[in-house]
Amino acid sequence: QTHVPHASLGIAMFPNDGDTIDTLLRHADQAMHQAKSDHRHSLQLFSAEMNRRAQERASLERALQQALSDRSLMLHYQPQVLSSSPGTLHGVEALARWNHPQWGMVPPSQFIPVAEDAGLIHELTLWLLDEACRQLAAWRTAGHDVPCVAVNLSGRSFHRPEFAQEISNALQRHGLRASDVLLEITESVMMDARPVTLQNIEALHHQGFKLSLDDFGTGYSSLSYLHRLPISELKLDMAFVQDLTTSATARALTVSVLSIAHSLGMVVVAEGVETTGQQQWLQAHGCPVMQGYLFGKPLPPDEIEAWLCAQVPRPYR
Ligand code: C2E
Ligand code: MG
Ligand code: MG
Repeated sequence: QTHVPHASLGIAMFPNDGDTIDTLLRHADQAMHQAKSDHRHSLQLFSAEMNRRAQERASLERALQQALSDRSLMLHYQPQVLSSSPGTLHGVEALARWNHPQWGMVPPSQFIPVAEDAGLIHELTLWLLDEACRQLAAWRTAGHDVPCVAVNLSGRSFHRPEFAQEISNALQRHGLRASDVLLEITESVMMDARPVTLQNIEALHHQGFKLSLDDFGTGYSSLSYLHRLPISELKLDMAFVQDLTTSATARALTVSVLSIAHSLGMVVVAEGVETTGQQQWLQAHGCPVMQGYLFGKPLPPDEIEAWLCAQVPRPYR
């Protein structure tokens, strides 16, 4: 085999970047991490901005750890509706929310990557699975008809040999079945060739879980994976949906995705539907399920109940 080594260099200089060996090494290390993440450069000088970002990240990490241990994260749920009957639920997607006492709402696009890097994502995933299952069981006990809950899984959890078992344990704790939960994965999970990832996917499939491919169309979108792995749902990324009325390319690609999914017996969920123009186009082209602000934003559990009640036609109104 031929190996091509690359070096990444971080540079901190005495005395401007620090006057002790510990500070200089820490700053050189921060600069090296920056050099590694920026693939174009293999060499990076330390800067005060870099230090500020590193400290911000460290405090975000500490606060997230705290939030996980005192269970102050929440789940909001977004309705996914049938195109043929937008008052009828296909399911709800559970989305993590973090309301920090000082910083206010921290968006998932900010804290999920921190959780991934800091090794906290698995704890977060186990919490969210348990909480989503608890909520679904509670809705059913209260007589609300929620067909299933979709949860977002991080690729890293698939590296744990016991992951498939941990998922079924969460369901069992709340008396649910595999068909009650939809597991959303990203293309990075499909591309992951580690045997342990494939074993988890196979185990989940054998236990009757359904896998949904999130943000479809934005990554590699390799068709051979669709064919090889047990995927039962594609989530058409909102980038396509939002361009439907203005871009012929977006329309052509969407028609192709719908046709492939239909031939393979997969459900398509269009994400980020905001206008009736988008809704009508998707409905006319046979997209079976939609999700977006047009039907409902991600809502706390009690507002989902109110949403459900508002959809039921009342005979005496
Ligand atoms: P996603 O799984 O693709 O979730 C859909 C995102 O689109 C959500 O953003 C949702 O609020 C937003 N959205 C839904 N409808 C509309 C619409 O009509 N218009 C617009 N502009 N946006 C819409 P959110 O909640 O900020 O989540 C962002 C991403 O963070 C999620 O993307 C998901 O990848 C990740 N995420 C959220 N919660 C979790 C979690 O519990 N675990 C993991 N691993 N990832 C999560
Ligand atoms: Mg998702
Ligand atoms: Mg998505």
